[in-house]
Amino acid sequence: MISEMSRFRRIPNYVCPFCGALCDDLVVETDGKEIRVENACVLGTAKILAKHHNRVLKPQINGREVDLDEAIDKAVEILLKAKKPLFYGFSSTTCEAQEVAIELAEKIGGVIDCTSSVCHGPSILAIHEVGIPSYTLGEIKNRADLVIFWGCNPMHAHPRHMSRYSVFPRGRFSQSRIGRKIVVVDVRPTESSKLADVFIRVEPGSDYEVLNALRTIINTGECRLKKVGGVDAEKLKELAEMMKNCKFGIIFFGMGLTHSRGNYWNISEAISLVKDLYRFTKFGIMPMRGHYNVSGFNEVCTWETGFPFAVDFTKGYPWYNPGETDSNSILDKRDTDAMFVFGGDPAAHFPKATVDYMKKVPLIVVDPFWSLTAKIADVLIPSAIAGVEVEGSAYRMDSVPLRLKKIVDPPEGILSDEEILKRILEKVEEKL
Ligand code: SF4
Repeated sequence: MISEMSRFRRIPNYVCPFCGALCDDLVVETDGKEIRVENACVLGTAKILAKHHNRVLKPQINGREVDLDEAIDKAVEILLKAKKPLFYGFSSTTCEAQEVAIELAEKIGGVIDCTSSVCHGPSILAIHEVGIPSYTLGEIKNRADLVIFWGCNPMHAHPRHMSRYSVFPRGRFSQSRIGRKIVVVDVRPTESSKLADVFIRVEPGSDYEVLNALRTIINTGECRLKKVGGVDAEKLKELAEMMKNCKFGIIFFGMGLTHSRGNYWNISEAISLVKDLYRFTKFGIMPMRGHYNVSGFNEVCTWETGFPFAVDFTKGYPWYNPGETDSNSILDKRDTDAMFVFGGDPAAHFPKATVDYMKKVPLIVVDPFWSLTAKIADVLIPSAIAGVEVEGSAYRMDSVPLRLKKIVDPPEGILSDEEILKRILEKVEEKL
């Protein structure tokens, strides 16, 4: 238990800078060096206490330690020499830094993309087509009596989501766990499905068929097949009844839906299902966003360029066509001659062929921590940890903006993401 009576400064309502749940009820105490954390889950605690672990502390060019000015000059040289530099990442930094990065990409005439293109990009494409009836997490906590997790495992990916927003809290109009029905739909049992009242196991790659069958049952009361996607039609009819008869339902969905067969059609069908339910009750749907400010990049990029991610400035104006302008498509086609990775780790997550190409082009990486991408960087610039060593804004998975707090100083000589980007932008403007 954190003591009130100590040399430690107490910071209440601290916002956790790890996942898209952005829990804002943490209590942190610090004497400027040591940090103590209350209320965070194991993932959040590890990030907040990571100040001394796995840090990049010196700028490097090809593995040789250099001073910051030299590293920035080299980064500027690479960016100005490139015909089509690719900027990628930006989901683990502040909105203020994202704004400068977009300006830089526009000035240079590059392409800017965030981690959405490999997580909830398909959700965004579906939203373009059919819109999204959604709510804030506060409304869900206060009202939801039916919560469906589809293709996601919050117990592992967003460990406090269930206790803060969706399953266990007592809301103004909803009871706690006792008053809520919890349904998990997934291809295998998970830690989250163990907590569910109903677990529906679908065959891998058949979410679209199951969603479509649910729509048919809701709209006609019938299902001509005995089984759909490995699920008994009777079980689907029971779920359809639960959905129609709840007072306020919500579907949270994850990458099990966005990156399985069907891709963005799965999301489009899930959103259409929610719209069908509007004839009977109140229902919503929300993507479980992973990185703490991936939603923020989509917001900032949309208000700056008109598009949420994968924006190409090479024509002199913003051009958006995922499948052509997203990072993996560009790397796959060998259509970039320099890459700037900012607070992301594509070498750990992209297909091998695209990572192999990343190794062939000049690669600039800005990150507080060592990562697989940092290890293959030509220019590596360490940065301060946003939400721990610098303050800034971030958007929660329900697009509610929250203010990240600074609790300790960064190591000597280490600048914030925003300051590093501004220094690069200033030099680019001078040289242009
Ligand atoms: S659930 Fe996410 S935001 Fe909340 S404490 Fe854990 S890592 Fe942080």
